[in-house]
Amino acid sequence: MTKTNLEFRTEVKQLLDLMIHSLYSHKEIFLRELISNASDAIDRARYESLTNSGIMENEGGWKIKISADKDAGTLTISDNGIGMTRDEAIAALGTIAHSGTKEFIAALQSREVKDNPDLIGQFGVGFYSSFMVADKVTVVSRKAGIGDSSGVKWESTADGFYTVEDIQKDQKGTDVTLHLKADEKKYLDEWEIRGIIRKYSDYIEHPVVMDIEREKDSELKKGEKVRVVEEETLNSGKAIWLRDKSQITQEEYNEFYKHVSHDFSDPAMAVHFRAEGTSEFTALLYLPSRAPFDIFYKDFKIGPALYVKRVQIMDHCEQLIPLYLRFVKGVVDSSDLPLNVSRELLQKNRQVEIINKNITRKVLDTLSDMKKNRFDEYLRFYKEFGRILKEGIHYDVSKRETIADLLIFDSTQKAAGTYTTLQEYLDGMKEGQEEIFYITGSSRAEIIKSPYLEAFRDKGYEVLIMLDEVDDIVMSALHEYKGKKIKSVIKGDIKLDKPDEAEKEAGKKLETLIALIREQLKDEVKDVRFSGRLRDTACCLVADEGGIDPQLEKLLRSMGQNVPENKRILEINPSHPIFGAMNRLFERNPKSAVLEEYINLLYDQALLLEGSKPKDPVSFAGTVTRLMVRDAEKE
Ligand code: ADP
Repeated sequence: MTKTNLEFRTEVKQLLDLMIHSLYSHKEIFLRELISNASDAIDRARYESLTNSGIMENEGGWKIKISADKDAGTLTISDNGIGMTRDEAIAALGTIAHSGTKEFIAALQSREVKDNPDLIGQFGVGFYSSFMVADKVTVVSRKAGIGDSSGVKWESTADGFYTVEDIQKDQKGTDVTLHLKADEKKYLDEWEIRGIIRKYSDYIEHPVVMDIEREKDSELKKGEKVRVVEEETLNSGKAIWLRDKSQITQEEYNEFYKHVSHDFSDPAMAVHFRAEGTSEFTALLYLPSRAPFDIFYKDFKIGPALYVKRVQIMDHCEQLIPLYLRFVKGVVDSSDLPLNVSRELLQKNRQVEIINKNITRKVLDTLSDMKKNRFDEYLRFYKEFGRILKEGIHYDVSKRETIADLLIFDSTQKAAGTYTTLQEYLDGMKEGQEEIFYITGSSRAEIIKSPYLEAFRDKGYEVLIMLDEVDDIVMSALHEYKGKKIKSVIKGDIKLDKPDEAEKEAGKKLETLIALIREQLKDEVKDVRFSGRLRDTACCLVADEGGIDPQLEKLLRSMGQNVPENKRILEINPSHPIFGAMNRLFERNPKSAVLEEYINLLYDQALLLEGSKPKDPVSFAGTVTRLMVRDAEKE
């Protein structure tokens, strides 16, 4: 096949544009990215060689070679790993495989990011970072395990297009050649390259080598010097997770994190431990400092990399962690699993279950410790990942209490930006208060004013404020904490006080009116009853104790799910003057059209207060303005 000219996908063009105009301040990381890709390619080849005799370790071993050609102005990173076919090169180097890329790039193009270039680090720009320093990139690759020497040459100047061409290549693997920009030639310098590799890629397990020319004493003629070229390994190559903790610097931990996570920012925390006994393994796990942009997408890759006796088996093994810890990155190296372990085998493997349990305990312990001793750091972590961690309360009964202790809450008793915990809540409960209360909603500002809180405000009871859509599910699953029931203030009946005689009397008087409201709204609401929540507001809508939370209902509907019609209960506040007035009107004329109009209005108001829209906004607006005219005429 001859040379074919192909166009990049839109998102790649946009990304390249961002890279070329170099948002990112540390351009030298391009080398880390390319070495990281080369190392991944070798890991894959090594793994496949276990079962495919067509793929074998090369003479001289697996390695990554850096070659700087000062005359040509090129830097080449070669590996003898898995390689790519023509189609794979087109798919891997012409598109970006992450979902959510479009949205992410749109966000990157915003002013905020232009002013804060390091944000691009959330995205694994990988290969494309080459274009920060090169105006042309050539990739020559041959897939391992293919009998003949056919390969592919991919080339681009990042002008929106790239070419692919069939070529012959002697060795399997990939050579990435960067034609460096005129002002980036420093990357050809041996000491510059050494420095970058020591800083960013020292932990890479495979040797990163370079031909080094040196002057040496001649062995043939004493006293004479000769120039020789020798291949030298530039990295130490020791698997970092197998090293002694006390010998590893923070920088080394951070750089290894970037390699395994494809994140550009430093992690929030490294958790490094060895387990012995029923299962022998070493884990080096990380809590990222920022949520990856695609963490809520379906194809988000979950789980640390799995190694068996130092051989990488897979880069993400989701069986190793529970889903609610899916933000955890890193490496697990097991001594017990067989090298040829398959995904199917992992599913119900006892060793894997033990590792999973161990990791879960260790990560939760680390979080508890962080919360206790470094709360500010914990808060930053929680803002990024709390929403995911909380899912554990629903899914992992055995860890429910531990996770409950990791929750932090906004609350009616705390100023915005300060937080409480369930234990603190218990400690601050008022005399006579029997339950822990929470309210769900979409913003603190809205919630603070909510009529649902009137009675709680009156009594000085604290109410936890919860803004995530999953919160109601989480709190319902938790159900109680240290013997105290947990209750939503917008669901079920609330009785903070027993009604006194006067209230009972007022209630009796309204019974016929309530029957009328119940009858008129019978298609809309399940029941009409007196409210224990309200003090100043006339009425509100509440769900049944076990009913679905309005926040969650909105979320499910927006996801296109079929949520069954969920009738609510209309609660009215018998001490509000409107009911006295309506009652008098009712006594004068039970068939009054105004009364009917008022009942509809009350229902619409209740809908507004729970954050929904009136059933018929046009008719609602019409009625309100008609009443305004009527009132204005009386002025
Ligand atoms: P990532 O490494 O995050 O997937 P990159 O943009 O760095 O993203 O690389 C895209 C893809 O290109 C890789 O997933 C891999 O399939 C392929 N690739 C890149 N470099 C190599 C290489 N040296 N050998 C084989 N495949 C490679």
